[in-house]
Amino acid sequence: MNLSIIIPSYNEEESLPELIAWIDRVAQANQFTYEAIIVDDGSTDKTWQVAEELHEKNPNVKGVKFRRNYGKSAALNTAFGMCEGDVVITMDADLQDSPDEIPELYRMITEEGYDLVSGWKKKRYDNVFLKNIPSKFFNWTTQRVSGIKLHDFNCGLKAYRKDVVKNIEIYSEMHRYIPVIAKWAGFTRIGEKVVIHQKRKYGVSKFGWNRFVNGYLDLMTLTFTNKFKKQPMHFFGLWGSVSFFIGLIIAMILIIKKLVLQHSGAFYRAVTDQPLFYLALLAVIIGCQLFLAGFLGELITGYSNNRDKYLIEKTIK
Ligand code: UDP
Ligand code: MG
Repeated sequence: MNLSIIIPSYNEEESLPELIAWIDRVAQANQFTYEAIIVDDGSTDKTWQVAEELHEKNPNVKGVKFRRNYGKSAALNTAFGMCEGDVVITMDADLQDSPDEIPELYRMITEEGYDLVSGWKKKRYDNVFLKNIPSKFFNWTTQRVSGIKLHDFNCGLKAYRKDVVKNIEIYSEMHRYIPVIAKWAGFTRIGEKVVIHQKRKYGVSKFGWNRFVNGYLDLMTLTFTNKFKKQPMHFFGLWGSVSFFIGLIIAMILIIKKLVLQHSGAFYRAVTDQPLFYLALLAVIIGCQLFLAGFLGELITGYSNNRDKYLIEKTIK
């Protein structure tokens, strides 16, 4: 099968028939064999019913229905697990992404050797203050952190080599960072294609203000886990030790100073009378706690099989 087209859908009953018809037109014109997977992310409208009707008319249409709303990342992750096409394309259900882009995306993966091609909505038709300006800032930060030169990380329209989607896990709201996750998994040939963008035709946007907060927290989690997930001790152990020894040294100095002064008969202050002592105590305690956190982290990662997940690109037998 040439193509798997994945469509996360949360209350998109009006858009889906039009979208599927359009995809089918494009696929027929280019003689693609394909499956279109509609993931109903706990919709409360008729999305699932529409998916079933579409499947009746066109067996290339497949569907998964979540029991409740789990979010776009969960929808993508589930479809990534079941898709079978050589090239996997994700697109939003709301007709903002154009299926006419599919042939070129397919060509870039199969002929130009890209692992992942991300759409770039160069001309955007969304709310300027709620979407366009914050997204410039978002893309700039993500570029800095990841070193990937993409203009539009969060574009819903993306194409992947099958290998990529079978080897990455998307959770929480990590769909914004799929290129970053892919790069850190070793899929470094990441490209970009300017794509046509349209106004949402039916329904409403599903992402509100909280996506700013969640987006940045997710980026921090991602950066941190990428660096330290395999060896939590390298982070917590280091800073725990630093804090512990700073505290220890300060306490030692205070005690030695007191003993020396006491011995020479000069005036001295009790160790516990000095503010610095409490700082030293705090540093020692924090140090122990950080160290313990690292140790627990090591135990947990040791038990989970994540540690052993090394992606193998090729083998000779
Ligand atoms: N979506 C989803 N689950 C959610 C939120 C959104 O599957 O919890 C889907 C939604 O149906 C759409 C795509 O993700 O197909 C992008 O959502 P939307 O168009 O609302 O985002 P925007 O374009 O406003 O950023
Ligand atoms: Mg949209």
